[in-house]
Amino acid sequence: MGAVRRIVVVGGGTAGWMAAAALTRAFGSAGYSITLVESDEIGIVGVGEATIPPIQEFNAMLGLEENAFLKAVNGTFKLGIRFVNWTAEGSDYLHPFGAYGIDMGVNFNHHLMRYRKAGGNGDFGLFNPQTMAARQNRFGRIEEINPKAPRVNYAFHFDASLYAKTLRAYSEKLGVVRREGKIVRVEQHPESGDVTGVVLENGQVIAGDLFIDCSGFRGLLIEQTLKSGYEDWSKWLPCDRAAAVPCDKVGPAAPYTTSTAREAGWQWRIPLQHRTGNGYVFCSEYMSEDEASTKLLERLDGPAQADPRVVRFQTGHRRQMWNRNVVAMGLASGFLEPLESTSIWLVQQAIMTLLKYFPRDGITAIQRKCFNDDLLADYDNVKDFLIAHYKVTEREDTPFWAYCKHMDIPDSLAQRLESFKAHNQPLVRDAELFKEASWFAILVGQGMEPASYHPLADIMPQDEFRWRMDRIREGTAGLAAAMPSHEAYLAKACPSPNLVPV
Ligand SMILES: Cc1cc2nc3c(=O)[nH]c(=O)nc-3n(C[C@H](O)[C@H](O)[C@H](O)COP(=O)(O)OP(=O)(O)OC[C@H]3O[C@@H](n4cnc5c(N)ncnc54)[C@H](O)[C@@H]3O)c2cc1C
Repeated sequence: MGAVRRIVVVGGGTAGWMAAAALTRAFGSAGYSITLVESDEIGIVGVGEATIPPIQEFNAMLGLEENAFLKAVNGTFKLGIRFVNWTAEGSDYLHPFGAYGIDMGVNFNHHLMRYRKAGGNGDFGLFNPQTMAARQNRFGRIEEINPKAPRVNYAFHFDASLYAKTLRAYSEKLGVVRREGKIVRVEQHPESGDVTGVVLENGQVIAGDLFIDCSGFRGLLIEQTLKSGYEDWSKWLPCDRAAAVPCDKVGPAAPYTTSTAREAGWQWRIPLQHRTGNGYVFCSEYMSEDEASTKLLERLDGPAQADPRVVRFQTGHRRQMWNRNVVAMGLASGFLEPLESTSIWLVQQAIMTLLKYFPRDGITAIQRKCFNDDLLADYDNVKDFLIAHYKVTEREDTPFWAYCKHMDIPDSLAQRLESFKAHNQPLVRDAELFKEASWFAILVGQGMEPASYHPLADIMPQDEFRWRMDRIREGTAGLAAAMPSHEAYLAKACPSPNLVPV
């Protein structure tokens, strides 16, 4: 196949418009054509409203100004995820974005264990500014409070349809051509099998050299055409449905996502400036769609704004995410469920990985292999982290939780848990998304106590150690106390015209 010049993005959901925006930013003015095809009739999945901090890098790469962006998408700030009832009914912990404490030679988690084992306050949240701010519903950009303090990491909640709309406006301005219409046929080269074009209902053919399949769960090109195969992970991540519904905003927007474990899965609460997004992610083997929808409606903070909509999915991924001249992104490439808000990040990773191996003179097998290996490693690592939430629990009170507590887990996760339990080391490699602090937060949060910690954490004399830890705790408390309320910060920095004041 020849040089890649014509790029066709199939699908205009979050994944499609993220891909179009990033590719046009990277290549737009260098002789490439980028066309995006989407069908208003089919629409987008329309969920996916919580993100993780790397989205800041994505937006910065595009050159989006953060406050203007948040105004446009009714966005709020997110300091982490609060997990309620996951260990047992009544349990409550935060997985914050960012590490605990400061750099003290060895990972701070080991100092936390020394502190705790020596009788210090066992509440690790006292050493994490995100946790302290979240507990008080506060938010502030740290550089505006204390430019010398370590960075306080954050992400966003936003209206998914407005995010796609913002990226569409951005992309079209830079030259992306949008074609509206339903694709009814895919044309392939008779010998190579490469995709040569997609055919719309009106007969129009959109030809290309490289196709980015962002067509959602159906995987129009990657699966329906190229039969790339699907690796099913539902025995480890058994939830396969979500009932979703927005409700009125009835209180101040929390600067975190809430995930509450329920009888057959868990419920999300995502606060936006003008409404709250809610969903019950559940396993259809243990609960019907009607029952999940009813339970969701009973547990809303405010009046529902619509009827619940049920989305069906199967956790796992395509065996090949780049097959022939088709690269799948977003739901077309796989789905690991939304527990840690990782799907949009996986789209971002797919885009950055494609840019890294972008073909110049034609696609080679080694480029495809590198892309597939890198993306699969990302999926694998996220998968282990998600499974740990279900496995490390005391809950056995419903058939769903009994299944999760006793299920077999992948060897890679079994090794991480063994190492963490013995040595406080969850075996994190450099390129992984979830670092030691995240593993520490969720495993200790869910009741797993490491037996030991790294000997380097014992080097400092006890008196000096206690004094240092107390100062770090005071500094953390001071940073959080200096932040305004999240609601006040939104109203001042990035109020959307739709902001509902409370
Ligand atoms: C229940 C649930 C909750 C989620 N929560 C989160 C979250 O909190 N955070 C997060 O990061 N992610 C989350 N996600 C994932 C997130 O929603 C997706 O990653 C994101 O929306 C990307 O979707 P997409 O663009 O791949 O697919 P879609 O939004 O489904 O878009 C598919 C596009 O393809 C087009 N299309 C399909 N077929 C055709 C055709 N024949 N012709 C023309 N066009 C076609 C459609 O018109 C549409 O434009 C969640 C997902 C689910 C299911």
